[in-house]
Amino acid sequence: MGASTAVENGSKPKTGIKVIIVGAGFGGLTAAIECIRQGHTPVIYESFPELKVLGDIITFGPNAGRIFYRWGNGSIAAKMRAVSIDLQNYGFNIHKWDTGEIVINQKSPPRNETSPMFNGHRGELHEIVFNYAKEIGVEIVLGQRVENYWEDENGAGIILADGTKVEGDVVLGSDGVRSKARTLVLGYEDKPKSSGYAVWRAWFSNKDMIADPETAHWCNNGDTFNGWIGPDVHFLFSTLKGGKDCCWVLTHRDEHDIDESWSFPGKISEVKKLLEPWDPMCTKIISKTPEEKLVDWKLVYRDPLPNWVSGYGSAPGHGRICLVGDAAHPFLPTSAQGATQALEDGVTIAVLLRKAGKGNVRGALRAYQDIRYERVKKVQKTGETTRDLWHNTDWEKVKKNPELIQMPREDWIFGHDAEKHAEENGDEVIAKASEGLKASKI
Ligand SMILES: Cc1cc2nc3c(=O)[nH]c(=O)nc-3n(C[C@H](O)[C@H](O)[C@H](O)COP(=O)(O)OP(=O)(O)OC[C@H]3O[C@@H](n4cnc5c(N)ncnc54)[C@H](O)[C@@H]3O)c2cc1C
Repeated sequence: MGASTAVENGSKPKTGIKVIIVGAGFGGLTAAIECIRQGHTPVIYESFPELKVLGDIITFGPNAGRIFYRWGNGSIAAKMRAVSIDLQNYGFNIHKWDTGEIVINQKSPPRNETSPMFNGHRGELHEIVFNYAKEIGVEIVLGQRVENYWEDENGAGIILADGTKVEGDVVLGSDGVRSKARTLVLGYEDKPKSSGYAVWRAWFSNKDMIADPETAHWCNNGDTFNGWIGPDVHFLFSTLKGGKDCCWVLTHRDEHDIDESWSFPGKISEVKKLLEPWDPMCTKIISKTPEEKLVDWKLVYRDPLPNWVSGYGSAPGHGRICLVGDAAHPFLPTSAQGATQALEDGVTIAVLLRKAGKGNVRGALRAYQDIRYERVKKVQKTGETTRDLWHNTDWEKVKKNPELIQMPREDWIFGHDAEKHAEENGDEVIAKASEGLKASKI
């Protein structure tokens, strides 16, 4: 264990609450780290047998940076900063799709050490968080698929693939977008619907980009971020690590079969076809992308779940199991808040469990849903509004006022401090939730 352990453990007395967490994504890991900070005893069960650096670009807003900054006295945020894009000087160039002209350079907000923003490789950032969780003493059991959940008035737990029964006080189902917890615990078959859109995405080394004088400039001048906005399509291209790595995400209309995958292979020829009438620079960048790095990811909608907690509302059960992160509320990538909201969940639950105490963990879980539900729903909506803003651009209006096309940065999202919010409002929300619990007699 590292030097940070004393800091993380020292502040709050032990609560005696054993928290079983399913899944070691950002949601599960954050919940576990925050449980340590609040004095609980978390244990994570994860189906992958070893940590692998998976995925491509992921974004964390300042409302996540504020959470990371509190870990290890800023040391974790410093590690994340080192592998993330740095756009302090460059900003974000927004281009018109056909002419390629830069309509506006959106400046980056001044850097804030205590609530930083991070954009980087999902796998690399995940590894930092995973190692930190282990360093402060989170027990992480890898290679264990959770097959079932159980609960009664006195406890809750999971059943592993080999039949082992694990017992605790509460279970957090942070098992991602295809959550089994959602179906098993809430008795709710959550059917995805087509959103009418898909994204092609790729992350690759700059080798072929710098070999061509027409594309080399993107990689020879440090980190960059450019977006081409057009009718029903937008193409975002970044260079990171001083121009060493390249990454792009292209959102477009797609009515094909519904499937969600981070690794569904894509075809470069299809991307090029779509971009034929576009600024030729877009096709040049696509041409430098190795086909094996291209992912075709269909974007599906999932309506908000009626409940995130067992035994609450229409959900069956005893109130000791809840959903966290994508399992509770998947996001469209244009909101750039999916992972951040998973972090806010974990922080909130850990605070509420401490406030409610071991004798009232069910009140804490209900309060978690009550305190988070409306905020999450509102943030989810921004995934559609940003996309629609860009895809239906009125270029005459933008000519007069280029700021209209800037990427929205909303204070009610970025300024939120999940820990402070739960500390300040938790007692009241728990009291109300506990009243409801008594009345429901579960
Ligand atoms: C492999 C992968 C790559 C991704 N790449 C990107 C990306 O490039 N960009 C981006 O924006 N987002 C990406 N995401 C999604 C992003 O990480 C999440 O949207 C966000 O971080 C919320 O995290 P989460 O913890 O709720 O879910 P997730 O990150 O999906 O984590 C869920 C975890 O639960 C585990 N799990 C699932 N079922 C079980 C079970 N029955 N028993 C035990 N463990 C189980 C999974 O293995 C996984 O580790 C990726 C997710 C994954 C899993």
